[in-house]
Order: sequence, then structure tokens, then C-alpha cells
Amino acid sequence: MTSCTLRAEHQSRDQVQVQVQVREQEERGGVSCTRCMMDRRVERFSSPGKGHGLRALVPLRAGELVFMAEPYAHIVSKQAMKTTCEKCFARKETLLRCSRCKTAHYCNAACQRKAWSEHKRECKCLRSLLPRIPGTVNDSVRLVARVIFRLLDPKPSAAEELYSLVELESHISDISMDKMEGLKELCTMLLLYLKEEVNDMSQLPPNLDPINLFARVTCNCFTISDGELKEAGVGLYPSMSLLNHDCEPNCVVMFQGIQLHLRAIRDIKALEELTISYIDVMMPSEDRKRCLQEQYHFLCQCVRCATADKDADMLAGDEVVWRRFSDAIHCMEKLQSECQWDELLGGCQALLGDFGGTAVPDSNVYTLRLLDMAMDACINLGLWERALEYGTRTLQPYGLYYSEAHPARAVQLMRVGKLQHYLGQLEEARFTLGQACDIMKVTHGCEHSLTYELRRMLDECQAELGCD
Ligand SMILES: [Zn+2]
Ligand SMILES: [Zn+2]
Ligand SMILES: [Zn+2]
Repeated sequence: MTSCTLRAEHQSRDQVQVQVQVREQEERGGVSCTRCMMDRRVERFSSPGKGHGLRALVPLRAGELVFMAEPYAHIVSKQAMKTTCEKCFARKETLLRCSRCKTAHYCNAACQRKAWSEHKRECKCLRSLLPRIPGTVNDSVRLVARVIFRLLDPKPSAAEELYSLVELESHISDISMDKMEGLKELCTMLLLYLKEEVNDMSQLPPNLDPINLFARVTCNCFTISDGELKEAGVGLYPSMSLLNHDCEPNCVVMFQGIQLHLRAIRDIKALEELTISYIDVMMPSEDRKRCLQEQYHFLCQCVRCATADKDADMLAGDEVVWRRFSDAIHCMEKLQSECQWDELLGGCQALLGDFGGTAVPDSNVYTLRLLDMAMDACINLGLWERALEYGTRTLQPYGLYYSEAHPARAVQLMRVGKLQHYLGQLEEARFTLGQACDIMKVTHGCEHSLTYELRRMLDECQAELGCD
């Protein structure tokens, strides 16, 4: 019953997509067999020097939806649990709570029913730990447990269409002693968590013991975020783990609920490798390389890293000053995560005010980070004019670092455009929202709810200006 309902839901989403593709294909005068079309857009191949990779089989256009993937396993992140439905990933202030484990949240009984097959076994595990949840169970423990439930009850999975769980890299031989200790601790937590449901790990396939699974999850999981790039969960999408990293990628991963959408962000030739960015690229090349090495165990040799391009802008200004900014960021991020807006604004202001001015330009990545956090604090405190001042200063550097269509730039433009609109700066708002819309059509797609919302705002703005 549950799986039928689920399948029906996916089909209807597929059908909508198929209609869009048929229309696109007809416009181009191509064939209209959509199933084949979807199948022959990408293929797995051996990427020189990188192992497996994914490449285009046909030319792709900027904004084109290249691949859709369902997760092999997924969870709602701990920090988003109280406001995110476990089934559809809708974000709401009030949700129903599973009466058994008191941990999972749902929009309504229908969402709970649909999620039951995935939640049933973990519900017992979560319940067995009451009242200590959620302290003892972190996101990777919960995700690996879900992977184990699937492995112990194997069914063919569309998520493994191009690349399977067994094939995922674990990089176990590259893992440092410290990290290995961390993995062992996670295994202890996992055994404690699973004790109600799984006692015998020997039934797991070879090479998929818990340590190995944690290692695979660490370097292959995707953060599931909403259209505004707020983290909602974590998922494993094995086929999409074929995608290699580039600091200037040609594709982007976005989500509709838990469904992963791979989109081209620029025109791509047939047989060209498809790449995404595993990390936020708004970092100097040395920092990017270190992050990639630590989490994904490879040395980035992309063109941007090789030429250290934009490093000079990212680290512009008086080094003594920006090092102070850089040192303070961790503390500011903590205030942000704890929603301590007054303290956060005070902290950012003190740094930017004391040392800002000409010493460090806004293009410096640490200044930029502080400006972003100051804007966020002002929005939460209802200080619209100041939020707009900070936000406006970020736009030029965002354009510099996210030069290709990038979802973070679209979202930033949208936030600033909204503030301009609210404060009655209609001409400016129309321009900013228009820019956001052009990028979002590529990164999120025309059919994404946020793109609709943006279009509606733009229309409103245009109506107020008395033109159409
Ligand atoms: Zn729901
Ligand atoms: Zn439950
Ligand atoms: Zn790179």
C-alpha cells in the first residue's frame, strides 16, 4: 500500500518532467521518446586520472535537467528535525511528532504513513534510547543505520542505476589515525543504537562492515538542502557519486524534497565530463585544497586551483586585519547557529567598524562572510535598512566569485531584492530580482517553487512600477 502510493507520487512528478522535456525536445525539433532521451544523456566512464566519472552523451544546454535521482538512504538533519517533515521535507513551524520515538516529525498522518516503511525499524531503535535522544544519535549514525536496514533486506534500487553502494570509494587506506578513532567511536554508538533491531552484523556483505560504511558515507553523502540552500538532511545517491569535483563545475545539484536534480549550469558538449563542486568555492585555493584533501582524499588539480585565480581578490587588504576577521568567524558562526542575533550583529559590527573602511575590501572572503552574517542578524532583528546596506555590499563580490550561474548568488540577489522591494526601492528591486530570476531559471529550474515565488515578486514589483 505504502509503496504503491509512493510510486504513484514519483510517477506524477516524472510525468510533469517528461512533459517539460517533450516540450523542450519538440522546440529543438529532436526525437520525442522521452525515456530513451533521459537514458542517453549521461553515462559512466573512466575519467583520466580521477577514476570513475560521469559524462554527457549529448550536448546539454545551460539550465537543462540532466538527471534525477532518488536516495538509497536519507535522513533529516538533527538541527532541522523539529521543523522538517521526514517524508516530504516540507519546512513548517508546527509538525506532528511520532508518538513512539518522539523524534520523527511529519506534516500529517498521510506523510507519516508513507514514511513508515523507512521509519519502522529505526523507530524502535530511537525509542530504546529515550529519553536521551537526540544527544546520543548523530546524523551519520542514523544514516548508516538506514543503510544497514536496506542491506539486510535487499531489493533492487533505482538509486544504484549507474553506480552501486559496493562500488563507492571508502578511501579507508587514506584515513588518518585520528579519523579512524572517530569512526570507531561512531561504530560503538551505532551498535548501541541498533541493539534492539540488529545484533548480528555478520550478515552484512563483505567490505560493507560498519567502519567501511561510515567511511563511504563520509566521502559520498550529499547535503539535502531546500531552494534557499538551508540544510534539511543528508542522503546517499550512489549513482551521483560518479560526479567528480571541479572548483569551476559545469553542473549543480539541487533538491526537490529528497529528489536530487542534476542541472547543467553552462552549455556542455557531448562526451564532456560532468562536474559539481563538493565544497563552497568561496575560499582561497589553499583552503579549498585542504578541505578536499581532508574530507574527500584527493588533491584538486582543477584549472582554478592550478592558477590560484581570484586568490588575490579573496585575500585582498591588510593581512593583519583579515587574519583577525578569519579568527573571529568561528565564534560568529556559533552565535549565528544559536540565533543570538544581537550578539552576532554587535560582533560583526565591531570587527567591520573597527577595522573595515579601506584596510580590507568587501571582496576579501572573510569580510564577505562577516557582511553576510551581519545581514542575516539584521533581517532577524527587523533592521531592514541596515540589512540592505550589508547585503548590497556583498553583491559585487558574489558576482566575482560565483561567475557562472550559481544557486548561492541567485539566493543572495533574491534576499537583497526582497529588501529593496520592501523598502520601496522599486527600480532597484526590479533589477536585482530580474538578475536573481535569470540565474535561478538555470540553477533551480523554471518549475522550482522558489523560481515561481521569485517570478511572482518580480511581477508585483513591475505592477507597482506601472509597467508590464
Ligand atoms: Zn510531509
Ligand atoms: Zn518513530
Ligand atoms: Zn580546484
